[in-house]
Amino acid sequence: MIETLIPARCSPSTKCPYKTHITVSRDEAKNEHMHLTDQIQVYSDSSGLDGKIGAVAILFRAGAHPRVLKYHLGTDKEHTLYEAETVSLTLAAKLISTERHLSFPLSISIDNQAALKSSENTYTMSGTMLCPHCPQVIETVHHFLLECRHYRAERRILSVALGRQATSMQYLLTCEEAIPHLIQFINSTKRLAPIFGEFRLSKPKPPER
Ligand SMILES: [Zn+2]
Repeated sequence: MIETLIPARCSPSTKCPYKTHITVSRDEAKNEHMHLTDQIQVYSDSSGLDGKIGAVAILFRAGAHPRVLKYHLGTDKEHTLYEAETVSLTLAAKLISTERHLSFPLSISIDNQAALKSSENTYTMSGTMLCPHCPQVIETVHHFLLECRHYRAERRILSVALGRQATSMQYLLTCEEAIPHLIQFINSTKRLAPIFGEFRLSKPKPPER
């Protein structure tokens, strides 16, 4: 299989036409949101429900009906919530580009730091969807966390810490006590380091059995 890549999304001299900002806490995000005064405010989000992955964006303008765009990507075996977050940003951009009488500044709010940070990258990577270690295998979150044989050693450390629960996607992705161990696993694989760097780690708590 040959994949054709454009080496960079834009020229190095291109100035980013927008600013991104990540608040340090949930409360700060709420507070900033309360004080937003932009005429046009756009929100984008993703959802994973009943094995389906979707993206949505909604544009609010003072005195007008909200406009909504939705996109169903497919199943959670083929797609990730992270992908859906980036698709939701594309939907937000589409809403803005089709809005009559744009006024600036306008704001887009999203609850995903990874999607925000990736918007600042100007390079592309090969095999975005395929696992770099397993021929012809799509690199789903499930494959990366639970299946890929390349990370067996790292996964063993996760199993020692969390026991049998280390094989449950739901446990790994939703239980607070699992998150520090999950982050440790992700950092030790170095799989996401080229895009996001090291994830910060708070000290793992021993799981309740
Ligand atoms: Zn693999």
